[in-house]
Amino acid sequence: VQARANRTNVHGFSPADHAAMERHRRLDRDLRGAIAGGQLRLLYQPQVDLRTRKLVGAETLMRWDHPELGLISPAEFIPLAEETGLIIDLGRWILEEACLQASRWPDSMVVAVNVSPIQFQQSDLVAVVTEALRRSGLPPNRLELEITESSRVTDPRLVSTIMWSLQRLGVRLSVDDFGTGYSSLIYFRDLPFDTVKIDQSFVRDRTSPDAEALLAAIIELARRMRKHTVAEGIEDETSAALLASLGCTYGQGYHFSRPVPVEQLLAMLEPGPLEARA
Ligand code: C2E
Ligand code: MG
Ligand code: MG
Ligand code: MG
Repeated sequence: VQARANRTNVHGFSPADHAAMERHRRLDRDLRGAIAGGQLRLLYQPQVDLRTRKLVGAETLMRWDHPELGLISPAEFIPLAEETGLIIDLGRWILEEACLQASRWPDSMVVAVNVSPIQFQQSDLVAVVTEALRRSGLPPNRLELEITESSRVTDPRLVSTIMWSLQRLGVRLSVDDFGTGYSSLIYFRDLPFDTVKIDQSFVRDRTSPDAEALLAAIIELARRMRKHTVAEGIEDETSAALLASLGCTYGQGYHFSRPVPVEQLLAMLEPGPLEARA
């Protein structure tokens, strides 16, 4: 049965391919209405100071609660939104919503928002960010934009111009998934990043004997370039302790908390003064 199901037809597509294309088309069709229909939600994953273990901020992660297909991962629908250009509207909505939420948090907390490289192709990203800050009243230094390097970037000069404008606005810039994909050190040297987000593959898979050397080197590189470091994908105390001992400033991962609704995030705040994210 398995063999037959995967057998290709005259067009070279197997039934499984057809099912995937069908789902792709369906999601594509439904995504536009999802914002208006209130099916998109933002979750917040805590970021902690690895020394004090205090909450210093949170990363915004999107969820799509599809009425018929159930919960859909951003790993599936963000690329789709990037293909169709819908990421522009979606991205604006996320920024407005995240800034508004964060404006109600303690002054020491930073909100991190993922920004697609496609949003950079649109030179009004600076205006979108400015407007989100203005409407929410959130101070610029409490917003951090996480940027993943991408092969999709067709105009690196435009990206660079926008990033310098954002930096002048006072928002923080973070390189997401550092060390993976098309990550290049030249890019890293020439762009005004404040923070390095160490990709979770370095944190979670330490079976290779060189894994720890690599972590140590990334953290040292960031330190010498005066960048903050956030390690993502911390799933156990061993990893948290190791990263802290290597000098990584902040951590994020299931060991501390999964991404949660905003009320749950705020419930994690201890009474008393919070360690500010320097
Ligand atoms: P990312 O920005 O690198 O986010 C980290 C991903 O790792 C999240 O997956 C998070 O839930 C997951 N994660 C966090 N801690 C752990 C851990 O300890 N163990 C494991 N196994 N996983 C952990 P998620 O929420 O499915 O998001 C996937 C990707 O989708 C994100 O990767 C980001 O690139 C993209 N994404 C999510 N929300 C947005 C958004 O609002 N806008 C844009 N442009 N992209 C988004
Ligand atoms: Mg991220
Ligand atoms: Mg990441
Ligand atoms: Mg990622």
